[in-house]
Amino acid sequence: MKKVVLLIIITVQIFAKLNIVVSIQPEIEFVQKIGGDRVDVVSMVEEGSSPHIYEPKIYQMKKLSRADLYFAIGVEFEKVWLDKFKSQNRKLKIIDLSKDINRTFDGRELDPHIWTTPLNVKLIAKNIFNALSTFDKNGTAYYKQNLDNYLRELDRLDREIRDILKDVPKGSSFMVFHPAWGYFARDYGLKELAVEINGKEPKPKELIKVIQEAKRAKVKAIFTQPEFPDKSARIIADTLKIKVIKVSPLSKDWANNLLNLTKAIAN
Ligand SMILES: [Zn+2]
Repeated sequence: MKKVVLLIIITVQIFAKLNIVVSIQPEIEFVQKIGGDRVDVVSMVEEGSSPHIYEPKIYQMKKLSRADLYFAIGVEFEKVWLDKFKSQNRKLKIIDLSKDINRTFDGRELDPHIWTTPLNVKLIAKNIFNALSTFDKNGTAYYKQNLDNYLRELDRLDREIRDILKDVPKGSSFMVFHPAWGYFARDYGLKELAVEINGKEPKPKELIKVIQEAKRAKVKAIFTQPEFPDKSARIIADTLKIKVIKVSPLSKDWANNLLNLTKAIAN
């Protein structure tokens, strides 16, 4: 019995997990897919909060002071906070997961919502693999195996999305409140129309324009997300007698969430 206990203690010490902090919930899924049981991952932005205006809580800053790696993904709050994270924990290695990703303009600025399509997530997965195998060399073979499996899984997901959308005419529009699905639209030949104008709810005059646009594009539903107000989306939906569907690009359950969005668009 004693021997078993001792063995467990030794095992735990040998495999001290890498402590990882990420910016948003979907990154937890990505990091766990590659890091498996060699990593512990927590997210800064919690469910229901927006990464555009987020402020970390005190207990999160404490977690951060013990973290080994931080995986940034290019969301807005990082601009203000990454330097503060670094001064909180000098040993912290900050890795940019948006490396090698072809970012597009969303009208105003580079669209930060890079994680909404499997093709981008394949690059994110490779960036995660590179970082984990650099900072935990003993795990390299394990991480490589996980990466290969995950890349295959992402290819399957991509095929599944194409299959669900096969009867949707190319260039079809879908309307969202907050324009978070631009890369998804790009990769699957769709057009994303946004209710938000320059990051704000539209003024009454602008709202009329948005309603006309939605009508022209024969939009059948508006997607809103729980992190943002949906008042103007409801007005548009009531006027056009269409549905409001809540779906968040920040969901923890990334792959299933993407499939749900795809099915809702196809319907
Ligand atoms: Zn956003």
